[in-house]
Amino acid sequence: MYLGLDDTDSPDGMCTTYLAALIAEALEAGGCTVKNMRLIRLNPNVPWKTRGNAGVCIEFDGDMEFASQTAGEFIEKYGMFDCENTNPGFAVCAKKPAPDFYYQALREFCTVEEAKAVLDSVGAVYRGYKNERGLIGALAAICAELPDKTYEYLAYRKPEAFGTPRVFDAESIRESAEATFPHVWDTWDFSADKPVCIPHGKDPVLFGIRGESPEWVKKAVSYLKTEEVSRFVIWETNQGTDAHMLSFTGEFLEGRSYVFDGTVTALPTTQRGGHVSFAVDGVVCYAFEPTKSFRSVVRELLEGDELTVFGSFQGGVIHVEKFCLRSPAKKEVRVSPCCPVCGGRMTSAGKGKGYKCRDCSGRVREPVYTKRILSAGWYEVPPDARRHLAKPVCRISE
Ligand code: ATP
Repeated sequence: MYLGLDDTDSPDGMCTTYLAALIAEALEAGGCTVKNMRLIRLNPNVPWKTRGNAGVCIEFDGDMEFASQTAGEFIEKYGMFDCENTNPGFAVCAKKPAPDFYYQALREFCTVEEAKAVLDSVGAVYRGYKNERGLIGALAAICAELPDKTYEYLAYRKPEAFGTPRVFDAESIRESAEATFPHVWDTWDFSADKPVCIPHGKDPVLFGIRGESPEWVKKAVSYLKTEEVSRFVIWETNQGTDAHMLSFTGEFLEGRSYVFDGTVTALPTTQRGGHVSFAVDGVVCYAFEPTKSFRSVVRELLEGDELTVFGSFQGGVIHVEKFCLRSPAKKEVRVSPCCPVCGGRMTSAGKGKGYKCRDCSGRVREPVYTKRILSAGWYEVPPDARRHLAKPVCRISE
């Protein structure tokens, strides 16, 4: 059996994964056996998402009627119905539909009617509330296929702590990251020297530890010293897999994410608000202000650099998530080298004749170019600006 669930929370509280954890406990208490918990991220460009556009699915053995009754009761008790953008939906089915709807919800846009047609085709029991949009994420989570997958250990706070500052020992988080990276990522940001795994909102999540296997995330958690945890779930996810990326085939469509090759055709410029723009084969690409230190990397790009760019197309421009500098352009700016004999500054010895030292007899025959800061390789936004679906560079093996 598959129970899918989505769109129950608001920026003011709750979290669909927490509600699913409560439902899974109630299913177990009612005699069902929970076999797997899946946290599925969907198109990050949908404008009506609350945070990370997630849907969840509980795989279980048990009674369909009991499961749908339990899901309905919990949604009606805990769902944030007052929020305009909260439109819960759940579905239970015995047969997993083909993954087509998942791929559409992951990479493009879907309607509630399309979701209902698929749910009806497999005899699902389902219920949508308000505008019923949550049925889209509920179904997508049910029919998701994960050719590449990662895991997230989500620890939840005790209800009496919701809305209060989270209590944790930062040093233990850093130790955990040092002991488990790159098998576990997004625990600690070493360049900004701060935790990444602790959320800031009013939701019930205390921390989320992401890694390549249940064993690795458990190992990372064993280092953490925090306030008391009420419950936890190790979710199977499509996070960190780049599953949302479409290969570019000639046309950028609004609200889709693409991977494409190209050459830098316009130098980076810093815009108002600190956003940095540049162009790849004439397509305008942006590293926006929240990507912080990534903008310094982008500012080093040169015309002629050959890149593979990963990003989403929104408002007619690419929001860059990461890029691979495949072939750096040679920077044709000559510099005066230091003299190999006395270490002094050298001057040009004339066109094509290299350099001569002003103070001694030292000569350098070959022209010397300024060194580029960027070398061939991968560059990505910092962890707290990274989309849940984006594959972190530490997972890329090429
Ligand atoms: P939550 O913590 O509740 O999961 P969220 O950031 O995931 O928060 P939701 O509140 O779930 O956002 O809102 C996203 C809404 O968009 C859901 O109703 C979901 O069904 C719907 N949705 C997801 N993907 C698509 C898509 N590709 N096309 C249309 N609607 C979508």
